[in-house]
Amino acid sequence: MDIIDTKLVKINPNNIDYEILSEAASIIKNGGTVIFPTETVYGLGANALDEDACDKIYKAKGRPSDNPLIVHIISMDELNKLVREIPENAEIMADKFWPGPLTMIFDKKDIISYKITAGLETVAVRMPENKIARELIRLSGCPIAAPSANTSGKPSPTSAQHVIEDMLGRVDMIIDGGSCDIGLESSVVDITGDIPTILRPGKVTKEDIERLFGKCDTDPAIIKSDEKIVPKSPGQKYRHYSPKAELILYKGSLKKTVNSIKKDCKEYIRKAKKVGIIASEQTRSFYDNLNDEVVIKVVGDRKNPLTIATNLFDVLRSFDSSNVNVILSESFDDKGIGGAIMNRLGKAASKKIELGKLKVLFVCTGNTCRSPMAEGIMKDIARQKGWDIEISSAGISAIDGDNPSQNAVLVLNKMGIDISKHKSRLINEKMLEEADLIITMTNQHKEILLRRYNNLEGKITSFNIQDPYGRSHNVYQSCSEEIRGEILKISDSLMI
Ligand code: AMP
Ligand code: MG
Repeated sequence: MDIIDTKLVKINPNNIDYEILSEAASIIKNGGTVIFPTETVYGLGANALDEDACDKIYKAKGRPSDNPLIVHIISMDELNKLVREIPENAEIMADKFWPGPLTMIFDKKDIISYKITAGLETVAVRMPENKIARELIRLSGCPIAAPSANTSGKPSPTSAQHVIEDMLGRVDMIIDGGSCDIGLESSVVDITGDIPTILRPGKVTKEDIERLFGKCDTDPAIIKSDEKIVPKSPGQKYRHYSPKAELILYKGSLKKTVNSIKKDCKEYIRKAKKVGIIASEQTRSFYDNLNDEVVIKVVGDRKNPLTIATNLFDVLRSFDSSNVNVILSESFDDKGIGGAIMNRLGKAASKKIELGKLKVLFVCTGNTCRSPMAEGIMKDIARQKGWDIEISSAGISAIDGDNPSQNAVLVLNKMGIDISKHKSRLINEKMLEEADLIITMTNQHKEILLRRYNNLEGKITSFNIQDPYGRSHNVYQSCSEEIRGEILKISDSLMI
């Protein structure tokens, strides 16, 4: 494509310079292209009612012509002119979420060209909240078609710097309006059927919509990674958001994730690869003693997932300039906006590693008193706290198939925990290998295991619980309390 002389301007969203914004609006009116900020990501805009102008969007992005654009409006009157019908559900959604990070799919009127909808009979419409975006639409006097302002396939731009990297010389104007608040593209929702269906997850979540209607579906293509299911939102079929380096996404327990990332990182370094790691505030320090060459980026705070959303694309892009060969990324809780974060990370990843649940193994001598009690107590705590982990126990000198001691059963019974069906197990290499965390009842047990078996360093720890074997009910009682206390003490380090 020919190089365009791109005009770069800056507008303060809290004190809009209307002279500059009017110039942007006249570019739109005259069939040109303007990149502007929105609360989600930067958009590459053109007059939605001008086919040739919309053509320029596809060209600038290198976007496949079968991936439709979103039309941006500022009033419900405008919506009426573009769509055949506004279903009741859409009115309710608009009332609640517009202006904001929500795009809805409607049956289109003829005024909307098939260029915008990529041949579909439906059109995607959004009413943005960002003041610059709204004023630009108002001054232009037309709806503005605008996909994300990135080169197709790259992470969407959340700052003017990202836009400049991709789009200088490809559009008429770039408006720098600061960083985008949300940082992920809008939720795309189909409201043409009886039940709203999420076609692309975003800040407006399934839970938010369920609160309005009781029901909300998600396009199966988003949930399953089966490539045979065709997504209803054409953009979802593409690999997306990709940094130059291969991105590997680790899924499963966080403790396992950190351990696997560290192990794999060392392996890549051995093969002379430069490694990047996507960590969180909660996990950053675990990677401290890796090689200095490793580029570690904290994407945000797990307790405040919006920080992760806001920074994600910036972090993905930043790896391009640090020239890493491979990026190893943690996963995030997929509730709320986490669903959108995991959707984008999933699309950016070229490989996913499923690590499964955390496996904890308690070890004592005979596996009839302390370790079965620990197993029972931790299972009870896990059930109450909703931890999805596997817990088992074994003994260093156990006889396979012995019953637990009577006092152990009685004491736990009083706590509402039934270990009467437990059968003792003699420890073996496989059990130790499969465990992510081995907790022995005393330091002696730990030393014996370290002497007899290899590769236990880093995953073995010990409590300090003396053997109650053959002692009174009261001794078992205080033993069980000690065990509970010790388990609660380590629970933070389990990173569940
Ligand atoms: P972007 O503006 O780059 O975030 O991309 C627009 C998104 O909206 C893409 O994922 C499209 O697939 C989706 N979209 C646009 N129009 C429609 C439509 N008529 N039906 C379903 N999805 C659409
Ligand atoms: Mg996009």
